[in-house]
Amino acid sequence: MSGFLFNEIIFGPVKSRRLGVSLGINLLPIDYKYCTFNCVYCECGWNEEHKTKHSPLPKREEIALLLRQKLEQLLKDGVVPNNITFAGNGEPTIHPDFAKIVDDTILLRDEFFPKASTTVLSNASLVHKPGIFNALLKVDNNILKLDCGSETQYQRINLAKSNISLAQHVENLCLFKGDLIVQTLFLSGNVDGKIIDNTTEEEVSLWLDHIKKINPKKVMIYPIDRETPAQDLNKIPKEKLMEIASRVNTLGIKTEVY
Ligand code: SF4
Repeated sequence: MSGFLFNEIIFGPVKSRRLGVSLGINLLPIDYKYCTFNCVYCECGWNEEHKTKHSPLPKREEIALLLRQKLEQLLKDGVVPNNITFAGNGEPTIHPDFAKIVDDTILLRDEFFPKASTTVLSNASLVHKPGIFNALLKVDNNILKLDCGSETQYQRINLAKSNISLAQHVENLCLFKGDLIVQTLFLSGNVDGKIIDNTTEEEVSLWLDHIKKINPKKVMIYPIDRETPAQDLNKIPKEKLMEIASRVNTLGIKTEVY
């Protein structure tokens, strides 16, 4: 499958269980997924490295203008967003002007909807870069991915394009000294004859060790919700997710299951 792609730079607002009324900002091209990972469950589909011709990344000025226009329209229509969220067709921190765009967005939020939160959904692969790290500290909800307990499942599930290890990924999350929210998608299945499962006792136990070390403000746990590029994947039942969540709670860390 080709996956679901957002065909706009500013999209929504959409009703999100996690984020309420959320206005989305897609910093990636509108015609292909652009990410440093290639997760087997990605709703946007597989990376399409073989294609050589793509739309360019949207420019900072264009994004600010479109966001201003959208916020003006929402104000006129009496629609109040709870969140302005960086999400979309891949990894938002890839954009070379990510930090400046975050600054523009915070200013526009303050001007139009000062009570709305700013949120970034990121896979955390680039947070070691100071510009990106500092920008993420400025947003209200810095939501970063950690899907696995073991290196084996990390390599099978997230398929990072760089040779980043799970240990390095965890170290990167620790850089925030607790000023982050961790999001984890639990799943099981089989891809290319290899077992995918981050819900076994061994995996969950290792993942909990990482969570303890990272000590985030909150953990968001969720299952597969839409069609996935890998076909043989299973949705984890809510009861299992609740069981994992209760183990996070015993660490004194707030957890939400979706
Ligand atoms: S990090 Fe997000 S956008 Fe990138 S492949 Fe994984 S799920 Fe898709």
